[in-house]
Amino acid sequence: MTIRQRLEQQEYLLLAPYASHSAESAGRDREEVPCDLRTDFQRDRDRIIHSKSFRRLKFKTQVFLSPEGDHYRTRLTHTLEVAQVARTLARALRLNEDLTEAIALGHDLGHTPYGHIGERTLDTLLPEGFRHNEQSLRVVEKLEHDGSGLNLTREVRDGILTHSGPRQPGTPEAECVRRADRIAYLNHDLDDALRSGILRADAIPPDCLKVLGATHRERINTMIRDIVSCSEGQPHLSMTEPVENAMNGLREFMFERVYRNEWRDPEEARCDYVLRHLFEYYCAHPGEMPEEFVMIGYEDGTERSVCDFLSCMTDRYATRKFTALFAPSSFPAF
Ligand code: MG
Repeated sequence: MTIRQRLEQQEYLLLAPYASHSAESAGRDREEVPCDLRTDFQRDRDRIIHSKSFRRLKFKTQVFLSPEGDHYRTRLTHTLEVAQVARTLARALRLNEDLTEAIALGHDLGHTPYGHIGERTLDTLLPEGFRHNEQSLRVVEKLEHDGSGLNLTREVRDGILTHSGPRQPGTPEAECVRRADRIAYLNHDLDDALRSGILRADAIPPDCLKVLGATHRERINTMIRDIVSCSEGQPHLSMTEPVENAMNGLREFMFERVYRNEWRDPEEARCDYVLRHLFEYYCAHPGEMPEEFVMIGYEDGTERSVCDFLSCMTDRYATRKFTALFAPSSFPAF
């Protein structure tokens, strides 16, 4: 018996009957010889960590654009916080922690530069529209490994696609990530907004604080414990109504005061401007993109390949490209 086979057997002893078991994965599009040390879901997680798109998350915006302070979240630290919350849920609920972690680490791989501002701009530029969850799936299925993708299992790909948007997750592990994403971003974006001074603690709706708790730590704890106590022994995750309502209230408040507030307007317009001009430029000069994107252009059309190229960019790469293409070279670099 290999180590992997032993791990697969242990899952039958440890996990809930409705958890996803590695030995019963729906498999990969291209068949591979199984690893003797790791289960298929562990292997998927490792592939994501070693991917180039995972490393680029370090230089992509979460909410605060190119923050001066060292303590603001980036897309990478957001991803790690989602993985932490999701794994806590999965282990407490006797679900497959490796599958959960793989989905969590991969869920935002397709995020654009400049956060949701970039996503909105690309959505208007691409005829079929642009959603970061669909792009994350495209990254692991096609863009990584020079066009061949990471060949991940179907369960991991389903979880990446369904972490946001109207499609419902196909496994309880994917449900953990969908909930963990929301718990993570609400709490850490609130924390960053307070740190930046754009929000004062006394502006947070008192009803939400009463149910969720007065501190960052208490609020995360309340949300996680509520899901665990409601979902133990159940094949689907749920929350109590008061906590869910308080969370939705906090989300509305964050949209109004942080995500859609006018303090972002001047910067948003600049990010939109940069991406629109890069889009126009590369549609007119597709041969100037890296070869892998030129090849995608032959298969899927120029606009699609330019959107792929742009969405892969980090904030700083997009800004540098724009400067290199459109600013006179005697200008000092910024
Ligand atoms: Mg996310």
